[in-house]
Amino acid sequence: LIIKVDSTIPNKSIQSNEECVTNIVNKYSKANTKYIKYLKLIDQARRNYKPCNENRCNCHAGVMSHDLKIFKEKGISEKLINNIKSKGTKYQIINHKLYRDPNCMFPSRCVGIEHFLLEIVSDLPDMEFIVNTRDWPQINKKYGFFGPVFSFSKTDEYFDIMYPAWAFWEGGPAISLYPRGIGRWDNHRSKLGKLGNFTKWDDKIPKAFFRGSRTCSERDPLVLLSREHPDMVDAQYTKNQAWKSEEDTLNAPPAKEVSFEEHCKYKYLFNFRGVAASFRFKHILLCKSLVFHVGNEWQEFFYSALKPWIHYIPVNSDATKEDLKELLEFAINHDELAKEIAENGYNMIWNNLKMKDITCYWRKLLKKYASLMTYKPKRDQSLIRIKQ
Ligand code: UDP
Repeated sequence: LIIKVDSTIPNKSIQSNEECVTNIVNKYSKANTKYIKYLKLIDQARRNYKPCNENRCNCHAGVMSHDLKIFKEKGISEKLINNIKSKGTKYQIINHKLYRDPNCMFPSRCVGIEHFLLEIVSDLPDMEFIVNTRDWPQINKKYGFFGPVFSFSKTDEYFDIMYPAWAFWEGGPAISLYPRGIGRWDNHRSKLGKLGNFTKWDDKIPKAFFRGSRTCSERDPLVLLSREHPDMVDAQYTKNQAWKSEEDTLNAPPAKEVSFEEHCKYKYLFNFRGVAASFRFKHILLCKSLVFHVGNEWQEFFYSALKPWIHYIPVNSDATKEDLKELLEFAINHDELAKEIAENGYNMIWNNLKMKDITCYWRKLLKKYASLMTYKPKRDQSLIRIKQ
């Protein structure tokens, strides 16, 4: 392999790009020129990759700095909070106690958030903040409406401050297999992490796999490719609560839902955005299968630690059936590279998305946020105390 993804990368990056590409072509593509563009992208990604420092959720630190930067110059004033308080649920930390507005739009999401807040409340100074529990971010850069709102997912078009989604603990989407909602990342992590290690790459079914509902039409080309090439792809739409007719499953009967464990049997797994970012990304990376991640607009706090061509195969959000087929064929024809990228993806999540990394991110984020506040919050008597 050209350059292994480890700390020796800089020392090995001595060949010129052309020489290096020639080597990969010789080694991997059996002179099939169609794939050279992908090999070049892998080569370039490896040259530019700098492994992050895995201590104390440091791999994600750049994200909170980026999200808070806009508040650095003027700080976070009471007026800013008043501007945006209707955009989410108000929380206060006063004297190491946690308080919340009595009404949470999605109560189980608030529980999922509070699990982490209660773990760290004793370390935090007095502060108040607004948490958006909707899927959609709130502070669009174009709206002229500004203030600090915490949201789980956003694109570059928003000023929201990303926080680790509720679903790391509770309040994730409920499907028949997970009727209480997908949550408890600790449990999923340990089960999938074991499976990822026990299922050998060569024993995985050499097909692309996807199950999910049609929350976004960007998923259609893969489902259509699956109908044309069932030998290569098994991608089907399942029902969600909004399902009304077969039109919502692209004119086919809804497929049965499939557990994350079952996903791990396949070599190639797909992630797509849904309404915002989809929760499946972290789960399928732990299968140690090769993840194709479609679109790069919708982010969660941990996405930027994952690098295209190093930890997953990036796919344009407007990729056609033909584009997907070519990319899959590339992976099939470069099994060793595919296996390596799959392992890198697994390692990034396994090493840097532990429960303690989630707690660590919340702690650092709120400490930084509090340091930007320009006033000392007074206890708001309309809020209720939240306890374990
Ligand atoms: N899901 C699953 N098995 C299925 C269908 C969905 O595990 O057969 C999971 C999926 O991975 C995601 C959640 O259920 O974490 C919701 O999936 P859906 O596609 O409905 O919506 P999304 O949130 O991805 O837009």
